[in-house]
Amino acid sequence: MPELPEVETIIRDLKPSVIGQEIKSLKIFDGSNRLFLKNNLSFFHKYLIGQTIRDINRHGKYIIFCLSSLSNFVVHLRMTGSFTILHTNAPVVPYEKLRINFCTNLSMSLIDIRKFATIDISNDANFLVSKLGPDAISRGFNAKFLQSKFIKRNSSVKSALLDQKIAAGVGNIYADEACWAANINPLSRASLLNLDQIELLCKSIKLVLRESISNRGTTINNYKDVLGNSGYHQTRVAVYGRLDKPCFKCKTKISKIKVVGRATYFCPKCQKN
Ligand SMILES: [Zn+2]
Repeated sequence: MPELPEVETIIRDLKPSVIGQEIKSLKIFDGSNRLFLKNNLSFFHKYLIGQTIRDINRHGKYIIFCLSSLSNFVVHLRMTGSFTILHTNAPVVPYEKLRINFCTNLSMSLIDIRKFATIDISNDANFLVSKLGPDAISRGFNAKFLQSKFIKRNSSVKSALLDQKIAAGVGNIYADEACWAANINPLSRASLLNLDQIELLCKSIKLVLRESISNRGTTINNYKDVLGNSGYHQTRVAVYGRLDKPCFKCKTKISKIKVVGRATYFCPKCQKN
């Protein structure tokens, strides 16, 4: 699943081709109905046709296309969604779900193998603020905020970090990487972490996310950038996917367990509690 660094990379790739473009038409392809949530194609026609894309922002894993009408076109790529830029006359791409044709000869295409991606319109620029916690690389995501959330959580640290109301944009890979960097066991109870641990965890989350952005994201299965290339942070991960490989700090073999149904990697020596 694209997490914060992968979504950020996609946005940075899209910006030069998409900002300033006026939307001329939309085309949907077979199996696209799930994209629309509760709406339909005519709803999106109404809000998108004739609009110019002014900017592209992100909150957690949500992509927010800011339109000239001041409405927002909001996309969540979920498991396997990705974007590419095509010539308007280019043939249909495998797994293409939606093509947004601009008034130039360019189109922006949403591709999705597993069909979980969603699109929506919001007229409220702050609508995600009530739905999600602060974006994990924003100033609002700090130790004080994290402590205020963790103090009420009886669940594990890993489970708390996957909650988008706590750490918007953090997913399975970066939760494990940050716990390792902060020497925190992913199974530790969130409410029992002290302030020093929370401060270190918060710094570690931002650090692993920023490092991954600079490496254009992590490709474990399907993630591709706008040009169809893999990221290369998977060659730099410390624990994720490194079962039985030596810990970079202590040489102990990395363990794998399941936490809230998700594969979780950690060093049993460095991450005792
Ligand atoms: Zn270790």
